[in-house]
Amino acid sequence: MKVALTLEEINTGVTKKFKLKKLVPCQHCKGTGAKDGSAAETCPDCHGSGVVMRTQQSFFGMVQTQTVCPRCGGEGKIIKDRCPHCSGDGVVYGEEIVEINIPAGVSEGMQLSVEGKGNAGKHNGYNGNLLVLIEEVPHKDLVRDENDLVYNLLLTVPQAALGGAIEIPTLDGAVKLKIEPGTQPGKMLRLRGKGLPELNTNRRGDMIVNVSVYIPETLSRDEKQALEKLQTSDHFQPTQSIKEKLFRKFRSYFD
Ligand SMILES: [Zn+2]
Ligand SMILES: [Zn+2]
Repeated sequence: MKVALTLEEINTGVTKKFKLKKLVPCQHCKGTGAKDGSAAETCPDCHGSGVVMRTQQSFFGMVQTQTVCPRCGGEGKIIKDRCPHCSGDGVVYGEEIVEINIPAGVSEGMQLSVEGKGNAGKHNGYNGNLLVLIEEVPHKDLVRDENDLVYNLLLTVPQAALGGAIEIPTLDGAVKLKIEPGTQPGKMLRLRGKGLPELNTNRRGDMIVNVSVYIPETLSRDEKQALEKLQTSDHFQPTQSIKEKLFRKFRSYFD
């Protein structure tokens, strides 16, 4: 069975309810497989042990091997009058509401095996396990990188130059972040512990904020004039040392 989860659900863990088509105990015989509540009889072949001894001739002489009783399939009991509704299996196809708890920190492609929530066992035997395949619903603002979350922060040119306070969306609500004056595009800010929880531990990933700067795509005449004035202005020209600093940073991405 597939289950699609949002990052918010993965962040906290979630209980999901499903209507599932699967084998359920037969209501007519209460799962026993015997007609009209007639009791199952002890298997005459194995006398209830579920195993039979087979004698085989081998190179060393006669060898006794223990095998599952073919008559009762190892159950030790046989049903004389089979329930007509389930042909004596004690299970029929039906629907059941299944509730499963999904822990925090699961990820796309992970398979959970939920004990006892699968098909009902024959003759009131053990239930099978339910296999749940996890799928992730893409988030509108955040990208998952293992347990880290990446956010692309788009600043305006004045914001990047002047600095200021901005809000970053995290899965636990918005967080205020201070932007330093002169923040360069490509700068990475790390918010410790604001990522996703790691499965089965109490560690958490980080939120990584990638700074980018929006350059206007169209300009009014006034805006154009203002920028033209700034074009030759002192602080709009990177000095040699700034060029070197930014190049060192750029080169470090390839290390
Ligand atoms: Zn039945
Ligand atoms: Zn038997």
